[in-house]
Amino acid sequence: MVEQDGFNQSPLYGDVDLYATDQPLRDAVIANGAEDEALLLAAFGRRWGSADMMEQARFANENTPKLRAFDAKGFRRDIVEYHPAYHHFLKESIDFGLHASTWTETGERADAPAEVARAARCYMVAQIEPGHLSPVVLTRAAVAALAREPALAGEMIKKAVTNHYDPSFRPWEEKFGITIGIGMTERQGGSDIRTNVTRAEPVEGGYAITGHKWFMSAPMSDAFLILAQTDAGPTCFLVPRFRPDGTVNALHFLRLKDKLGNRSNASVEVEFNQAFGWRIGAEGDGVGTVMGSVQLTRTDCAVSSAGLMRAALVQALHHARHRTAFGKRLADQPLMRAVLADLALDVEAALALVMRLCRSIDRAPEDERERMRARIVTPAAKYWVCKLAPGVISEAMECMGGNGYIEDGPLPRLYREAPVNAIWEGSGNVLCLDVLHMAEQNRDAVLGVLGEIAGGAGDLPGTAAAAGEVEQILTKADDAFDARIAVERLALLAATEAMHSAGSPFADAFARTRLAGPARATYGTRALSREGADHLISRVLPG
Ligand SMILES: Cc1cc2nc3c(=O)[nH]c(=O)nc-3n(C[C@H](O)[C@H](O)[C@H](O)COP(=O)(O)OP(=O)(O)OC[C@H]3O[C@@H](n4cnc5c(N)ncnc54)[C@H](O)[C@@H]3O)c2cc1C
Repeated sequence: MVEQDGFNQSPLYGDVDLYATDQPLRDAVIANGAEDEALLLAAFGRRWGSADMMEQARFANENTPKLRAFDAKGFRRDIVEYHPAYHHFLKESIDFGLHASTWTETGERADAPAEVARAARCYMVAQIEPGHLSPVVLTRAAVAALAREPALAGEMIKKAVTNHYDPSFRPWEEKFGITIGIGMTERQGGSDIRTNVTRAEPVEGGYAITGHKWFMSAPMSDAFLILAQTDAGPTCFLVPRFRPDGTVNALHFLRLKDKLGNRSNASVEVEFNQAFGWRIGAEGDGVGTVMGSVQLTRTDCAVSSAGLMRAALVQALHHARHRTAFGKRLADQPLMRAVLADLALDVEAALALVMRLCRSIDRAPEDERERMRARIVTPAAKYWVCKLAPGVISEAMECMGGNGYIEDGPLPRLYREAPVNAIWEGSGNVLCLDVLHMAEQNRDAVLGVLGEIAGGAGDLPGTAAAAGEVEQILTKADDAFDARIAVERLALLAATEAMHSAGSPFADAFARTRLAGPARATYGTRALSREGADHLISRVLPG
């Protein structure tokens, strides 16, 4: 008989309040104007931090979606079946409006602090089950494009913004709530979407679309925004799962992607065989039409990555507080404290950066400077935060020793999930090219944003030099060779400023170790003070 207690293992981490236990989150919510949401966020944090939610997340990822391309008699079905746990998460997120709360029912921006409040919720949700956020994120983003065609898409927008999840497979007109996916990537190119080969030909009432998409997530969405070529160039189309006459539209799912992570979410390869679609935006303006949507999905990638990092960090700290090695709890070992505090500093900075970005998005409709700031900080934040996540999660895993590597716990799932946020919705280089392109097109406005961010960071160590370096690269670059330097520095500067303007006690430590200090590649090597480390760790999780 093996003794069950006294094995020096940490207890399971569950039934926690994801909001109340997260001091940097509470600070960021207040600093970015969403303090009135605090009570609602606390209730949300308790609900999503329940042990049951964590268990459901395991079910949703172990029982992956199945493609049913044909029925028993060989007729096409083209449906994907999900485990009930996936539907449970999607219903929860849609009940809370994560797919829609930043819109009015006519597709206008909801009043501030809608973006900040939603980001706080998405950040908590990503800590538990990020995969189902795909249809949530895509639906909210698609509204930005659909709102450009209110006469055509008004009815669909109304259904996309109800807090009602209806997974049934029937025409969108018959449903009260719908979701919308976005398919742009083709076999020959994902970043370079102007090379799309899918064609659209005018037919009665719309267009007939013929071609394929190499990746299309959330395939059970009720409609998809896709890009296809017309004679005028890439054009955006809205393709419903059912044609207006009620027959199933010709979207033929070839296979599901067998993915490293993001396993609760399905992503298909799909062929369009004269599928019916409506045009959104002008012919040839497809890239311009979807750009507003892409900005939003990029922001959500960064929010989600901040959540993944937080989830890994709290697991590591919780474990270190209960596990003893060499006669002392790991969390009391000076070297482990150096590692945990260094991790905590990046996680806090990432959160501060994304929440400040969301404030800019909230204010953009009334404030041109905030609009421009959101435009330039979005790719930089996505670049840095999403690239940070795999390294943070790997180090957090190591803090837990062998336990961190085992599939019974959440670390392997977080680790597998992390890289996708950097790859989709604009990979690193593409984001850097976007920033360079903006600086070329709109130099004064971009430098104005840079000056404002640098000014907001005060005289914190390294900020002036970093701003100078960014300006030099953005204004003098012959080509894109140094663009990553500029974009990383810009993100670090914006994170410093976000922490500083929110009154974080760690803006100085972040600037000193990330902007001014010698470049060091691993966690625990940055010269933080011992008192600072204690304070940083206590902000991560009371205990
Ligand atoms: C799990 C998953 C789900 C997805 N779901 C969807 C979806 O729902 N809808 C959708 O449309 N797409 C989806 N995608 C596709 C994703 O958006 C693309 O993979 C991504 O945009 C990159 O495109 P690509 O794979 O064609 O890579 P490429 O465009 O071939 O890029 C490869 C690499 O080259 C770099 N690169 C490209 N151009 C340059 C340049 N000029 N200079 C320097 N470097 C460059 C890129 O940054 C990247 O690192 C999904 C992908 C994954 C992994």
